[in-house]
This record gives sequence, C-alpha cells and structure tokens, in this order.
Amino acid sequence: MLRSRLLWRLLAVNTVAVLAFVAVSQAYIDWSLRQTLRDEAMADLKSRARLAFMALRQAGGQIDLEEVGRQADARVTLIRRDGMVLADTDADGRAMESHLQRPEIQEALVRGVGLDTRVSQTLRREMDYVAVTDPRDSQTPVLRVARPTEVTNARLSAMRQGLLAIAGALLIVGSGLALLATRLIRSPIDRLREAAEGMTEGRLDATDSAAVRAAGGDFGELEAALYSVGVQMRQRVNELEGQSRELASIMENVSDGLLLVDAKGDVALVNRAATRLLGLSAAQLEGKPLWQNLRHPEVHDLLNTLREVDGPSSVKLELGAGASTRTLEIVATPMFETAEGEKRSVLLVRDRTEDRRLEQMRRDFVADVSHELKTPLTSIKAYVETLLDGAMDDVEARGPFLEKIRNNAERLTKLVSDILDISRLEGSPTDDARQRMDLNPLVERVLAQFKERAERRRVTLEWLAAPSPAFAVVNDEDLSEAVENLIDNAVKYTPEGGKVTVTVSTADGLHEIAVADTGIGIPRESLPRVFERFYRVDKARSRALGGTGLGLSIVKHVALRHGGRIEAESEVGKGSLFRISLPAA
Ligand code: ADP
Repeated sequence: MLRSRLLWRLLAVNTVAVLAFVAVSQAYIDWSLRQTLRDEAMADLKSRARLAFMALRQAGGQIDLEEVGRQADARVTLIRRDGMVLADTDADGRAMESHLQRPEIQEALVRGVGLDTRVSQTLRREMDYVAVTDPRDSQTPVLRVARPTEVTNARLSAMRQGLLAIAGALLIVGSGLALLATRLIRSPIDRLREAAEGMTEGRLDATDSAAVRAAGGDFGELEAALYSVGVQMRQRVNELEGQSRELASIMENVSDGLLLVDAKGDVALVNRAATRLLGLSAAQLEGKPLWQNLRHPEVHDLLNTLREVDGPSSVKLELGAGASTRTLEIVATPMFETAEGEKRSVLLVRDRTEDRRLEQMRRDFVADVSHELKTPLTSIKAYVETLLDGAMDDVEARGPFLEKIRNNAERLTKLVSDILDISRLEGSPTDDARQRMDLNPLVERVLAQFKERAERRRVTLEWLAAPSPAFAVVNDEDLSEAVENLIDNAVKYTPEGGKVTVTVSTADGLHEIAVADTGIGIPRESLPRVFERFYRVDKARSRALGGTGLGLSIVKHVALRHGGRIEAESEVGKGSLFRISLPAA
C-alpha cells in the first residue's frame, strides 16, 4: 500500500491543500482581522478613557489614579494642558518630559479625543494611546489611557496557533481519507492488474474472477471488458492451437519428407518422414546447415540456387551403399517470405528407390529382350542369305536350312508370346476373368496335353488328384499356363526313364499344385535365381530344348497375382519339386 503512487499523490494533494488553506487564512488574519482587532482594541481603550475622564470630572480632579488604572486595566497618565505630566500609573510622572508634542495630546486638545500607536519612550514597548479632555475648558487636564499593543498581537498569535492546530487536524484526517480512498480505488485496480498479469502469463482464465465482480463497481465495465478480451484471446489461442496441431499432424503424417530451410540453408523444421528417409534424427538436422549433414555436391548446388530459381528445382542422390542404397529425390520450392519476414524454402524429400529399381528392371528387360530376339533373327538372316547365295538351288541342302529357319521363327514366336504374357502379368493387377473353380480338373486337363510327349521321351507321368474338389478363385488361362510351364520344364529336364508326379492337395486353407520330377536338378546357387527373367542354368541346353528363360518367371507372377506363393526344392541329379500354393475359396 505504501508503495502506491496513488497514495503518495493523494497525500501530496492533501498537504498542498492544507498549506494553501493555512497561507490564505494567515493572510486573511493578517490583512483583515489584524486591523479589526486593532480597531476593536482602540475603541475599547477609547471607552475606558472616556469612563476614566468622566470619573475624573465628577471627582473634580481628586481621583485615585492607581484605582482608575486598575479599573481600566491600563496605564493611565494625567497631563496638564501645557504638557507637563501630573501623574502616571506605571512611571514617575514628575520625571517624565513634556508630553505636549505627543500626537494624541495635540489631537485631544483640538478635538477632545486623540489616538496614537507607537513605541513608548518611557516603557520601551509599543502602546496604543487614547487621550481625552474637554477642548473648551482650559483648566481640565488631559487623561491618557495606554495599553500595550501586545494584547492584540497575543490574540492574533492565539488565532494563528488555533489555525495551525486545525491544519494539523486536517492533515491527519486528509491522510486517513487518502489511505481509505487509495484502498477503495486500488482493490479493483489490483484485481484488474492480477487478471492482466495472469493473461500475459498465459492464464487466460485469470479473468474469470473479474467476470464475477463485473456486475458492479466503478471498474465493473473495465473488468467486464477485460474479461471479454480474455475470453476472445482464449478462443483465438484455442483456434490457433487447433490449427497448429492440425498442421503438425499433416506434416508428421505425409509420406514425403519435408524440410523447412532458411536462406542460409539451415534447417528450421523437419517431419518424421524426412528423418526416416535421411536416416538422421530431428535433433541432428534442426538448427544446423543441411549441407553439414548431407555432404553431397548435388545438395550443395541445390541450396545455392534456392535464392535464384523461380520454379521448383530438384536433385537426385544416392544414400547408403550396397543393397541398402536408397535413391532420394529432393525438390525445392522457390524461397518465400514468412509472416515474420524471414526467407524460407520447403524441401520435399521423396524415396525414389523403387522407381529407380523398376526403371532399372525395365532397362534390363529391354536389353535382355533385344538380346534374346537378336539371336534367332541373326540365324534366320544367315540361313536366308545362304539360300539366296545359291543353296536355294541345292535341293538336298535347302531342306535343313528351311527347317532351321522355321525353328528359329518358332522360337521367336514363343519368345514374343512369353514377353507379352510377362508384360501383361506385370502390369495392372485388375483381373476380371477370375472365377471360382476346382483345381483338380484344371491341372488334369493341362497334364493330358503332355501325355504324348512324355511317352515319346519315355517319361512316366503320375497324377495324384486331391481327394475332394479344391476350389479357388483363379484365372483359368493364366493358371493353366503356369501349370503347363512347370510340367513342360519337368518333362524337358528329366531324362528317359524318369518320372514326373503332379499332385493337387489341400492343407491349412491352402491348395497346393506340386510338380515333382526325377530329372537333372538345379544347382543350389542357381535355385533362388530360376524365377528371374531370362535366367537359365544352362543356356545352350535350354535353347536346344526350346526354352525362353521366361517360363518360371511367368509362373511366379501368376502365383503372386492369385495371392499365392511359388517354392522350389531341388538336388542336382536327383530331381526338382515346384509347388504353387493358392488360397482356398
Ligand atoms: P526355360 O525356358 O529355360 O526352361 P524357365 O524360366 O522355365 O526357362 O526355367 C529357368 C531355368 O531353370 C531353366 O533354364 C533351367 O535351367 C532351370 N529349370 C527349370 N525347371 C527345371 C527342372 N524341372 N529341372 C531342372 N532345371 C530346371
């Protein structure tokens, strides 16, 4: 309370007011009362002088001056008209000089009454003098009554003291009132201040208490206004918090990496995807130059060009080594200015590893296809040229040439058909031609196609159907081709006297089509690769047998497109086993 400036101001105002009151009153007393009191004193003295003079006349000059003086409560002097002092109550009259020239005596001799105020030469103090006589009677002495002016002064100083006492009382009462007023004014102000301080500290509900008191008081309106400001601020803060939470969750949940960088290339903000893609934590990235963490010339160039380019610019970079190499694309938006006037750019980080892999696969495929097509085409061209060079006319020789041309043409046809199958199976996974069907008759029908060929190659075909119908939702044509490829390989790679067993069975909600042979088998290191396109363990043998190297690749795609799996087991010289498993339906 004592530190309140309001209190000190009120006290100062009070003090100044009291001092002004004292000064004005003082001036009034000095200028007005002083004269009145003086006049009063003089009038009083005049009547005392007249009374004493009357007593003197009645007594015929024989009076007891001391007695008169006592009754008049004044100094009384009797003076002869020639100025000689006859008697004096306060001094020895005979020793006193002639009083004829005293102004009051002169005046009394002319007008009967004379007044004066001056320092008495006899008593050495300021006195009021009143002299009375009868101007017409030359025998009558002059009676003079005198009193010290101190009497008036004493009354004045008594008044002044009274005034000072009043001023003191006013000061005390005023200070008390100032304290009270301060307390009355301060308490709502303190509440408002507390509420405002609470608001600045983020406690927006601090204004609630103000709202409760808002009903009345001089500060009610202010408190109500502060409360509504608090409510609005709270609403706004809630809105902003909601928006920033939304933005943060969007940023966190997008699959692309996002980095906010400033004009110097320092990272201001990263999202989760960015930390995952770059393999660095937010703490490692934020607040540091991106270049420090990603020491790739491409990143350096990108950051350097940020300020100059208008449209988005991008770079690709490889992170990691070996099998874990990832290809990232970083797209940078042009610099923009934030609300705070800072320059920022958003870097978008995308994982292009899969795109890069698919692109590489496409390129490899085109190269492989071209290579595969080239061989039979070169052969055909060579045979045709030989024929044109004269062999055409050699009736015995042209037969085998034409045969070779036909074989190569057939190989080409098979290749092109397998390539078309592969690209179709690798393309869009939508397959409307699927239907629920029993696998037993499907496999049996395919197997029947090989009966003649197997007999010719002296390979035994064994068929073990599932004991009950094995229903699955399949594309008849694709699955038939897959089973055909498996049986074709089994028959192809099994020497005379061997056996190929085809089985359909059901276990754990899966149907299995197994093709086992007692053929040449596949070396352990080649086994995982036989499903790759154009992979052949023995190229020459495969070609000689009319293989394209795409058969097992087609089988794998068909199995996967049906939500199934393909597995292979093999032992060189003993045989191989291929199993397609499909979900039962
Ligand atoms: P191809 O047209 O050459 O048979 P595939 O994709 O069908 O092509 O098979 C790839 C390679 O896997 C074959 O070249 C062959 O070396 C090997 N292979 C496939 N099936 C068998 C099998 N049943 N026995 C031995 N080797 C096989």
